[in-house]
Amino acid sequence: MIISKTNVPTLKKIRKTIKSATVLGTIVMMLSCSNEDFNQSSISENSNGISIKASLVSGHIYTIKSVHSNKYLDIAENGLNNGVNIIQSSYSGTPDQQWELISADNEQYELRNVLSEKYLSVQRRSILNGGNIQQQDHRNSTHQKWQLYQVSSDQYNIINVRSNKALDVEDWNTIDGGNIQQWSYAGTNNQKWIFSLVDDDDEIEEPEEGYDIRTILSKFDGTGLSYEISGDNVIFTSSDLPNHTSPYWPSSNPLHSDYTGTNPNWRMNPNEIAEQNIVLTIPLYPAEATNHEATPLGAMGIARNGIVFFNQYAGPDQPLTNEIDSFDQWLGHPTGTDIYHYHIEPTYLTQQYGTDAFLGLLSDGFPVYGPVENGEEITNEDLDEYHGHISVTADFPNGIYHYHITSNDPYINGNGFFGTPGNTTF
Ligand SMILES: [Zn+2]
Ligand SMILES: [Zn+2]
Repeated sequence: MIISKTNVPTLKKIRKTIKSATVLGTIVMMLSCSNEDFNQSSISENSNGISIKASLVSGHIYTIKSVHSNKYLDIAENGLNNGVNIIQSSYSGTPDQQWELISADNEQYELRNVLSEKYLSVQRRSILNGGNIQQQDHRNSTHQKWQLYQVSSDQYNIINVRSNKALDVEDWNTIDGGNIQQWSYAGTNNQKWIFSLVDDDDEIEEPEEGYDIRTILSKFDGTGLSYEISGDNVIFTSSDLPNHTSPYWPSSNPLHSDYTGTNPNWRMNPNEIAEQNIVLTIPLYPAEATNHEATPLGAMGIARNGIVFFNQYAGPDQPLTNEIDSFDQWLGHPTGTDIYHYHIEPTYLTQQYGTDAFLGLLSDGFPVYGPVENGEEITNEDLDEYHGHISVTADFPNGIYHYHITSNDPYINGNGFFGTPGNTTF
């Protein structure tokens, strides 16, 4: 066996969650200090002379807390209608205090309340000091668009695009229900706001990790069979010579034997076993495909002894019915081009390793198991349309999608590959 060591990508848990405004601020500082390619267009001066940094992330949900009052931007009495007033209130952790940041043109943002799905707006499109802030349906208008100016590591001014006035806690209120208005920029704490990303782990967390079949490769052992790892794939090279007896071996071969099976209708086909050079490139980290490809005529996978698996057809749309009588005592047979293959359970392998054992891989990287699981025979009805299911196996204690070979058509694979097959060449 040849196993080349290569760098294998580490599957990382992807999180877009940053849990505190402090961390958010740190990221801003890192960007502005260490990344020379930092987009200059995202830093500019507004008329109040404050630098803009577009460090908040559009599409994410934030709470917005007043630096002055430590209270949160909220909709009054959880009102869902147009015109409901915007106030400050103590932290609740509920959607009425959560705002989705939506990127508009020119570094302008809209803020949509998660509970009401309405937008932070200046009442009556006022451009005056004291203009009230309320929620309204989306209007694609500047009285609903805001620029965010970072004034310290975690604090922002929120400036209305139409009025160029700042979101402001009216009369320096500190009470629950204190009103929010717009006012000329003053640089004071009642105009500074802390954005904190809402922890939405539950929505977006990726699966713990993908499937990884590297541990199963050591079970492959056959005549003229080798494999090597190349990037995200394993490349099998097989001479496709069975490690067992068959009447299809040339009579000069020591493994040549008479038919010793039990099929009373046995008849030999005119072909014989001959050495091949089959190369199968198979993904090491298989995943479900979006479009499930049909299995090809010819090799659709490789058994652990290097013999290729064929599907449930003898030819285009031809069932195996007539071919079955030419299967040898281990239920394989050669094609007209002398490629030996299994369409159904390779009984040499299940006799050797057990009827519940790992038997090989299909070209999409998902493993093939025998007809028994947990002491029970698996039937077609236990499996999905591709002829597999997800469960724990002896080799994959965390569970994996796998095919089972059953005793009835379609035997190994049903209506196509579960994953995306790699290449096979002869
Ligand atoms: Zn065949
Ligand atoms: Zn299973």
